[in-house]
Amino acid sequence: MQNSWDVIIIGGGPAGATAACTLRQSGRKVLVLEKEKFPRFHIGESLLPYNRPIFDELGVWDKIQAAGFMRKRGAQFWMGDGSMHTRLNFSRGSFTEFPEAIQVERAKFDNILLRHAEELGAEVREETLVTSHAVEGDHVTAQFRTKDGTDHEARAAFLIDASGLNNFTANREKLRDYYPGHKKIAIFGHYSGVQMTDGEEKGDILIVRRKNSWFWMIPLEDDKVSIGLVLDLEDFKSLKQEPLAVFDDAVATTPTVRDRMTNAKAITQGHVLSDFSYTNRTLVSDRVVRVGDAAGFIDPIFSSGVMLAMHSAQRGAQVVNDAIAAQKTMTFAMKRYEWSTKKHVGRFWQFIEKFYTKHFAQLFFQPSNRFRMVCAINCVLAGRPEMTFATWWRLKFFFGLVWIQKRFALAKPIEIG
Ligand SMILES: Cc1cc2nc3c(=O)[nH]c(=O)nc-3n(C[C@H](O)[C@H](O)[C@H](O)COP(=O)(O)OP(=O)(O)OC[C@H]3O[C@@H](n4cnc5c(N)ncnc54)[C@H](O)[C@@H]3O)c2cc1C
Repeated sequence: MQNSWDVIIIGGGPAGATAACTLRQSGRKVLVLEKEKFPRFHIGESLLPYNRPIFDELGVWDKIQAAGFMRKRGAQFWMGDGSMHTRLNFSRGSFTEFPEAIQVERAKFDNILLRHAEELGAEVREETLVTSHAVEGDHVTAQFRTKDGTDHEARAAFLIDASGLNNFTANREKLRDYYPGHKKIAIFGHYSGVQMTDGEEKGDILIVRRKNSWFWMIPLEDDKVSIGLVLDLEDFKSLKQEPLAVFDDAVATTPTVRDRMTNAKAITQGHVLSDFSYTNRTLVSDRVVRVGDAAGFIDPIFSSGVMLAMHSAQRGAQVVNDAIAAQKTMTFAMKRYEWSTKKHVGRFWQFIEKFYTKHFAQLFFQPSNRFRMVCAINCVLAGRPEMTFATWWRLKFFFGLVWIQKRFALAKPIEIG
């Protein structure tokens, strides 16, 4: 029996759409199976500068630009009591090429990407839930259920899993490892009437650090701001309160957020989502490649998710394309994809892990650009995938200083709250 498709993709989010576009650019026959009907709500609204080269390569930048999303030139990190803040200015960087990013309503943004994949010739079937998959010698099959409740099967040379936090294939193969101590919960919604920064800093994301939790404030439009609270699941449980009451209490006791929300009104319902960082032990196996959150998920404090999802999807699709051309089920390039994706994620992870410690915060909030260290941090947090020697040693040096700060106060000790 002939394969009907070269590649089946599970999920039509940014990772699935990126993989579909990339494969269509190489002329592959692609089927995208997506359980929802787009446009659909999704969290993950603040993008990074290094999304831009991917938009260009997919040929979708004009459509994104035409949608008029909010420009993001920097990321501000604030103490909850307003005593201190610092700003990462993406244009300030001897090591980065892309000075700004965008803030997006994901319903609109994801729909642009998925429709673009369709325009490039991918077959997209929405309201179609993948229920199982199997790798069988010279092909892979995916079983799926359509809106009318009927079951079907498709057959291809390769399967790309872009199912997001559903982590479809890795869950079935029991490959997921959670990062210890990073089981968190997020409570969030959209608000009008929030007072955000204007001028050059308009469009900046605000990350507000509390003792054991943090807020995001993401301006999406002139009068629409996404606000979310992220806290440890255990802390949340011990409060024994409804999520919205926890959110409101946290706002009331966090002057940096409270003062900006004096006249705020909720314009969406409140959402609650578990936010558990995890990695999958392998990202590739015979005829299967995992991309985006289905490859691994990390705490969103540095807004890395969509950029990592699209970057991994583009690379993942390229190695799949090459494997099909070589008529192989597994290649060295697929293994290299796994290695480099984990490395890229790992670079963010070292910042995320340390961000929750006091000594890191003390240096991060009182930055010195001696030896252009801030420029190197800027470049990693802007999402640059490759590391040069110039950025590598500066980061090592920075984390060395963090290690020393734990033992001797290099920067002024500060309380977090
Ligand atoms: C609280 C929180 C805040 C975040 N904030 C940010 C942020 O500010 N910036 C940022 O960049 N990232 C952020 N992220 C991360 C970001 O949301 C993800 O990294 C990003 O959406 C990953 O894209 P993806 O395409 O891999 O997955 P998704 O966008 O989740 O897409 C997966 C798609 O697969 C579909 N699907 C799943 N299972 C099946 C199935 N069995 N059959 C068919 N279809 C299926 C789903 O319906 C979905 O549309 C945040 C995440 C959380 C939890």
